[in-house]
Amino acid sequence: MSEALPLNDAQSCVLQHCVPLGTEKIDLLQSLGRVLAQEVRANRDHPPCDISAMDGYALRAADLGNVPAQLVIVADIKAGDLPTLTVQAGQCVRIMTGAPIPQGADTVIRVEDTQEVDSGFPHPNPDGATSHSTKPASGQVAGYLPEGEGANVSLREKIFDTVQINVSAQSGNDIRRRAENLRTGDVVLTAGTEITPGVLGILAMVKAATVEVQRRPTVAILSSGDELEGLHDPFDADKIPDANGYALMAQVQALGMQPVLLGIARDDPAALRAKLEQGLQYDVLLVSGGTSVGVHDFVRPTLEQLGVRMHFWRVQMRPGHPAAFGTSAGSKVFCLPGNPVASMVSFEQIVAPALRNMLGHTRLYRRTVQARLAQPLKHRPGNLEFVRVVLSRDEHGYLATPTGSQSSGVLLSMARADGLLVVPSESKGLVAGDVATVQLLDGTTFQEHNGIQES
Ligand code: AMP
Ligand code: MG
Repeated sequence: MSEALPLNDAQSCVLQHCVPLGTEKIDLLQSLGRVLAQEVRANRDHPPCDISAMDGYALRAADLGNVPAQLVIVADIKAGDLPTLTVQAGQCVRIMTGAPIPQGADTVIRVEDTQEVDSGFPHPNPDGATSHSTKPASGQVAGYLPEGEGANVSLREKIFDTVQINVSAQSGNDIRRRAENLRTGDVVLTAGTEITPGVLGILAMVKAATVEVQRRPTVAILSSGDELEGLHDPFDADKIPDANGYALMAQVQALGMQPVLLGIARDDPAALRAKLEQGLQYDVLLVSGGTSVGVHDFVRPTLEQLGVRMHFWRVQMRPGHPAAFGTSAGSKVFCLPGNPVASMVSFEQIVAPALRNMLGHTRLYRRTVQARLAQPLKHRPGNLEFVRVVLSRDEHGYLATPTGSQSSGVLLSMARADGLLVVPSESKGLVAGDVATVQLLDGTTFQEHNGIQES
């Protein structure tokens, strides 16, 4: 176990142990980002019948052999109506988007391709003259109306009963077919689907007011070190402010969980033991610092005394080499390096996929893109390396520029980064223009494979 594991093996190991914890029923309103644990079937045809996709006229395509063609408007149908009439040859109905297509009609012509025709009975226009002219159906009707008459459409119904159709169309034009969205009994969502806004809309369509989802693990975070100063402790220039507890908290929150902060454990076996015992009450415990092999690094032996079985203690990556993982009866424990960048990077590589696996996701890894390096990068063969980069785009694609000093103690290198550029372990260095894989740190999109070529 003293051997450092290749990253892919470390990931396989954590995924084997960090599996979904079971399911719970929750309110649809709280379900965004959760993972469905049930199959969902359509409980209705949607739309329930053929409907119009446009505001326009429903008619018989056969009547449009010679256009323009004049048709008599025999009814007005709006969404929610249940028409009983049958459209005969030479007839049409005025129809609104979402309204059922009546019997006899087999196509829809949108209003923009028509002109309503004055049926012949006189009506006043603003200067008192009468008009019998052909007017465009949309837009200009208001000019005919007496002052104060706002409901143009209903007046138009009174004025026009004939329409000129200017274009021909195939049967089925601008008709949304019955059940094109949902068909009764069809499986529309499978277990394992992440509830995105679109999925949530479908759940509402099938009236799933509660949904069965994978349970979220409880997560606790512990920082360790005598030198650490808590966020609310008095300022002491000789101390090191606890950044890891909060950066890890945010990384967990970004995955949709609310962790509990256990604060700081001092480098003293008894104090550490008490805090670790508390942490082992949670499904997942993250400990940062104190995981090296210094004489004051008590985390590993104390965990082992508490019944935690360690599965690995080193990973062939930098930063993040001293990342470790163990399990107890009720908990998964990740020991992360104390250096702030190393803590965050090892979270990304080891903890994030494990947490997403527990949440029931199938896409566990940060999305990767290929990017050209803007400047050379030194690399000593041995470990996979993650270089913090800013990404820009030019006509050839993404360009990656390192965010200054790559020391694992310089947290600004992470704070400024758009992504982590992967330098394969056996690389002897990269030159400007070399193409490399970059894990995107922002965004909520994940992929199934880690995209990492280790050597
Ligand atoms: P350790 O892993 O305990 O040997 O710590 C390695 C380095 O990380 C030391 O310089 C620590 O001061 C620093 N460090 C450890 N824990 C934290 C923390 N929670 N926040 C910021 N820096 C830390
Ligand atoms: Mg320490």
